[in-house]
Amino acid sequence: MSTTSTCVPASADADCKATQRTEAPLVLLGDEAVARGACDAGITAAYAYPGTPSTEILEYVMAQTGGRGRPIARWCANEKTAYEEAMGVAFAGKRALVAMKHVGLNVAADPFMNSALVSVHGGLVLAVADDPGMHSSQNEQDSRWYADFARIICLEPANQQEAYEMTREAFDLSERFRIPVMIRLVTRLAHSRAVVRVSEPRGENAAKMAPDISSWILLPSNAKRQWRDLLNKQPALSDYTLESAHNRLDLIEAERSFGVITTGIARNYLLENLDDLAIRPSHLHIGAYPLPLDKVRVLADHVKTLLVLEEGYPIVERLLRGIRHGQLLILGKETGEVPAAGELTPDIVRQALGLTSHRGVDLPTLDLPSRPPQLCSGCPHGDSYDALKKALLGFESPVVTSDIGCYTLGALPPYSAIQTCVCMGASVSMATGAAEAGCYPVLAVIGDSTFVHSGVTPLMDAVSANTDMTLIILDNETVAMTGGQPSLLPTSRLAGLILGLGIDPDHFQVISAHRRDTEKNAEIIRREIAHRGLSVIIAVRECIETAKKRKRG
Ligand code: SF4
Repeated sequence: MSTTSTCVPASADADCKATQRTEAPLVLLGDEAVARGACDAGITAAYAYPGTPSTEILEYVMAQTGGRGRPIARWCANEKTAYEEAMGVAFAGKRALVAMKHVGLNVAADPFMNSALVSVHGGLVLAVADDPGMHSSQNEQDSRWYADFARIICLEPANQQEAYEMTREAFDLSERFRIPVMIRLVTRLAHSRAVVRVSEPRGENAAKMAPDISSWILLPSNAKRQWRDLLNKQPALSDYTLESAHNRLDLIEAERSFGVITTGIARNYLLENLDDLAIRPSHLHIGAYPLPLDKVRVLADHVKTLLVLEEGYPIVERLLRGIRHGQLLILGKETGEVPAAGELTPDIVRQALGLTSHRGVDLPTLDLPSRPPQLCSGCPHGDSYDALKKALLGFESPVVTSDIGCYTLGALPPYSAIQTCVCMGASVSMATGAAEAGCYPVLAVIGDSTFVHSGVTPLMDAVSANTDMTLIILDNETVAMTGGQPSLLPTSRLAGLILGLGIDPDHFQVISAHRRDTEKNAEIIRREIAHRGLSVIIAVRECIETAKKRKRG
């Protein structure tokens, strides 16, 4: 068997390619490798909103600052403000990292899409962690589509070392092409550890205002010019990905029937099974987008059947469909060889390759009691739900909309207290809609952090219409679900913010979310339900996990 490898050296811009190793190898999560890569690329600041599986990125940057205050690392009100703050750093000519989970990019989509049109001269890198399999998310959306939508480069690491190196390179690419660059992670990479060898860190950029300020003023006349400019960059972006070592084509001359395309961590699953194949297939691995079309064409011309293995949506597979129509069979998620939903596994890939499953012996069925996720014992949200349920006794069809946080578990027994959880902030706006549709009583339940993230603006709608609803803000004084990051606003300032929006002070209450106050709290909720207008109640008690951590010091 003869093997011809078509591999090209790494980008000439990668600042880490020739630098010496400066310290012993580290063992890092994928998230931490991205953070370390950003720190070593000389970022001035990093911004994020916590969300699994991306939270550890900013936590690692924070740990690097070591009291020096550099780089600046800050949790933000939401992903949009985080992205915009990073844009401000880039506008000043310095480097900034912004991190979020995949659904957070929906919130940041407005600045993200528009930032592709401005002329970025300080590196702007977005690290976004997708969650195929929905371990801790409401959908499986694939951020590579967003990169394609914005017409920018996306780098997709297959391991922690690549996460480190690609992040460093992403800053160089951002400044070279004057665009933001996306690093796309997935849960298995973000949350698993491997050895990472780091390189000589680079210093911060000197501050330098944008050479062409008008490129940042997206008035239609400028935006039209900037859009054409972005379109004109596309051939150069394609040339980069064609030459990038992240897109590696291994053609097996003797094997012309079967080829495989992998993206990101799917490469690992292929490599795990490769030795069991009778004939080694030709293989194109894609780690940098836009697609390296010439390499794809070479592989497509070389084989009769092409299996596409990618974590997330069948993006590459869909883009390829129709190529060499009738002569090339493309297999993947759309044709059923790979499941369309959930994560890939080595065994799924094994079966897609036509190998017998490695699935072990079937265990005898064990009659274990089911253990659905639950609020911690003694959680303040549990006490708030007890009061809420007491207050609603006797109502035939109350509506209780809710949101994203630990308190979403109130949907499950023993509480079964809430009816919706769609996206950040939707509890408030959906309650407004339900009230306007004639439902009564209507309540919305939202956490303090989610309220600051996306609940304030829909509350303004409700204030302006004096909507007949009762909003209950469950203030546990932390962002509990993602590990206890500090709340942006303490209760005292939250109250000022709410009153400042124009809530009638007679229908604004702060209560203690404590078991001993259940009766009293139920009575307050009942009273506010009886008020045919807008009421806001803040139920305050610190998350017991955060309190424990605080006491431990
Ligand atoms: S972490 Fe805190 S807020 Fe979340 S369920 Fe436990 S006690 Fe409640």
